[in-house]
Amino acid sequence: MKPPSGPPPPAAGKTRTDFRLLRRAFTFVRPYRRQLIAVYLFYFLNSVLNLIPAASLAWYVDGVVRGSSFSFFGRAFDLAPYLPDVRARLLGSAAYLAALFALIMIANAIGVHMWRLGTRVCQRIMLDVKHRVNEHLHELPVSYFDAERTGAIMTRAVGDTDQMEQMLRDSYVLLYASTHLVTVPLIMIGMSPALFLATLLPIPVVFAAVQRVRKHLRPIYHDMREQQSVIGATIQENIAGIREIKAFEREPTARRAYLRTNLAQVRLVHKAMRVFSLNHQILYGTRDVAMLLIGVGGGAMVILGWGNVTLGTVLAFIPLMGRFFDPIHQLVGFYDTIQRGLAASQRVFEFLDLPPEVRESPGAKAVRFERGEVRFEHVTFGYKPDRPVLHDISFTAPAGSKIAIVGSTGSGKTTLVSLLPRFYEPQQGRILIDGEPIRDVRLESLRQAIGIVFQETFLFHGTVAQNIAFARRQIDPVRIRDAARFASIDSFIESLPERYESQVGERGIKLSGGQRQRLSIARMILKDPRIVILDEATSSVDSETERAIQESFEKLMEGRTAFIIAHRLSTIRHADLILVLEEGRLVESGNHEQLLTRNGRYAELVASAKF
Ligand code: ADP
Repeated sequence: MKPPSGPPPPAAGKTRTDFRLLRRAFTFVRPYRRQLIAVYLFYFLNSVLNLIPAASLAWYVDGVVRGSSFSFFGRAFDLAPYLPDVRARLLGSAAYLAALFALIMIANAIGVHMWRLGTRVCQRIMLDVKHRVNEHLHELPVSYFDAERTGAIMTRAVGDTDQMEQMLRDSYVLLYASTHLVTVPLIMIGMSPALFLATLLPIPVVFAAVQRVRKHLRPIYHDMREQQSVIGATIQENIAGIREIKAFEREPTARRAYLRTNLAQVRLVHKAMRVFSLNHQILYGTRDVAMLLIGVGGGAMVILGWGNVTLGTVLAFIPLMGRFFDPIHQLVGFYDTIQRGLAASQRVFEFLDLPPEVRESPGAKAVRFERGEVRFEHVTFGYKPDRPVLHDISFTAPAGSKIAIVGSTGSGKTTLVSLLPRFYEPQQGRILIDGEPIRDVRLESLRQAIGIVFQETFLFHGTVAQNIAFARRQIDPVRIRDAARFASIDSFIESLPERYESQVGERGIKLSGGQRQRLSIARMILKDPRIVILDEATSSVDSETERAIQESFEKLMEGRTAFIIAHRLSTIRHADLILVLEEGRLVESGNHEQLLTRNGRYAELVASAKF
């Protein structure tokens, strides 16, 4: 359910773009069209029933109260023979009241049902949209998250879909309103064409007001949306950077910046309100004046006997006018909602059109990697294709070997290992695991075979046990405990107040870097991958922690192919193969002794003790 789409050609008019957006939005609605038609029918029925009390007033006043005839589309109806005396007319009044009462009850019952059904359908459709957005979020390549700000992604996932929902919900109102725009004039014309023409007099004023909204309010709303994202981004940055803000005592500046963005928003709201409130008053004032004119003008027509206007007609016209003007007001409001909704839909669709992560080739195989031999063949890669970060890298890591990757900061160590789980795709060359080009393997198989212990481990909001079992859905607590013991973190966990059930904060704030890394090692043990990638901490930890981590690393690497972004000589020395990177080139490779004998870049690094 993903229709092809791209950016609109520059020449395409706005209306055409709007139409394309609506058509695309409709793809989400289509599966629910039956329910939607039912909702619309209920709305239609409700709107018609709602008109009966006002419309029948003419009939009641002329036929029952005054005992004369009333006409509808030129046909005269005379109730006089049925209501010969006062008693019969009073009885008629009582029957009219009872009928109206019953009608209002029925209309309300339908109203409740239509709201319920309408909301339910709306929620289902939006759930589909949100599901699609969320699915796509997970399909996107890592590079998307490098480039996009978290705040902007959040706005898309939450704000824009909410705006679409508002548009969908208001479309019911649109239908309700447009039904009245057809039925009310029909009834009015049926009663008195002359009086109906008089009701149209304020229409130019209404249109002028609508134009005013379009002209003034839209740019303000646009600015408000922009400002909203600035506010979101400011809050997000203030939260993410809270330590820096405190450490540099930037609280007053941060507070002021936040206040400033909010004040700007307040000013925009005021501006919008000025346009809006004036408009509101113009619209309602016009309606009230028009009602007055119809009341008095209609009265004069009755006195003069012009245009077949009766007292009943005048009385019925006043509430009918309300029913005629209200939808026009609602449509003005809807115009605004639909503009916002379309803008939001456009952003959502643009997001859905972002190319997903490296696509699997049609014949991608499910493979169980048994050995874990890794080969790079002339791999060249750049985050931007024209600026390579890795140049022509070739090496073979035998199954079960330990490979240390060394080089100064920015030499491409992290980039090199990121290619292995296909977070990024090389522009040239290929990577093979157990002789199988990873491009031809299903992503799922590939990633199952690879475990990564990042320097900065992200802990999800939840318990320690849940975080350890992260890679698995259902897991035996005993195995979690074993894994923790393996990673030498069990005694620490046991010392926590709720042990394995203790909550770790959103970003694992309550654990130290070393503890988080060990927790991540426990995760890896449960995942049991053939290949592990370890990023040794650059920051200094105390020697005891370092030893503990080192030991767990050693145990984790046993029987697996291991890539270590290494910063400690003790690790590097024991590696089977050392890859020395410099500005994205593999300048030397071999083991510690071989490389020392060569007395090249590696020997230099060792001498300076800088990795
Ligand atoms: P190392 O791990 O050796 O410090 P990296 O692999 O992190 O080196 O970085 C290699 C080069 O690629 C650097 O010049 C860095 O600025 C650049 N780089 C790293 N990550 C990204 C990214 N996500 N987008 C663009 N450039 C990046």
